[in-house]
Amino acid sequence: MLKRTTNRILDLIYPASCHLCECALTEGRHLCTTCRDELKPVEPPFCSHCGECYDGQISEQFTCPNCHQLEFAFQFAIASLHSSGGGRELVHDLKYMRQIQLADELARMMQTTLTDSRFQPYLKDGLLVPVPLHWMRQRKRRFNQAEEICKKLSQHTHIPSLKALKRTRNTHTQTRFSRVKRLENLHAAFAVSKRLHKRIQGKPVILIDDVFTTGSTANECAKVLVQNGAEKVAILTALRG
Ligand SMILES: [Zn+2]
Ligand SMILES: [Zn+2]
Repeated sequence: MLKRTTNRILDLIYPASCHLCECALTEGRHLCTTCRDELKPVEPPFCSHCGECYDGQISEQFTCPNCHQLEFAFQFAIASLHSSGGGRELVHDLKYMRQIQLADELARMMQTTLTDSRFQPYLKDGLLVPVPLHWMRQRKRRFNQAEEICKKLSQHTHIPSLKALKRTRNTHTQTRFSRVKRLENLHAAFAVSKRLHKRIQGKPVILIDDVFTTGSTANECAKVLVQNGAEKVAILTALRG
């Protein structure tokens, strides 16, 4: 109540504006409809396993050449937005400019992605679990972007959000590593929280992250969740890296 009143007062003093084009906005949103329409949602055709997008006309389900030789611990991965266009800017500003309110806009896009029929078994009895940051990095950043998106998505969908995973090692940033190096770097980097171990038993889990790049992080998290009793894991990210 107090928060809402404060927001109203703040809206009067500093009218909300679209994060991308700075036009004036109505209460509660951070992007205008034009900018929302210009975001590039991931649409078929994409790989039914890793979510990699392809051009052209492919009508039936397919698995991409990258996935043929790989064994993933998750059932499938899908992103809501392409990294070109406004999507990348939103994730960047959320993460590095502390624009935490943008988590809500990303979560709303991801809610649309949940209408993919493959999520059906996850919606009723499932859980949303964010990819964790190591506590040292989280202290520095002051928040975990995946967790913020997850919280908002949970509010919109009523699927419970659970911080079931912990990062046990402060791994180096992965962006410049090869695939093999990434896997080595991530080995034993995640664990299921002892306190929440019971809550994931037999549950279908949707793992939430901001970006899917090679899938190494998502895969490592999925492996740990399944080894610890989750029924199955699907990956939903805001962006395809
Ligand atoms: Zn705009
Ligand atoms: Zn694939």
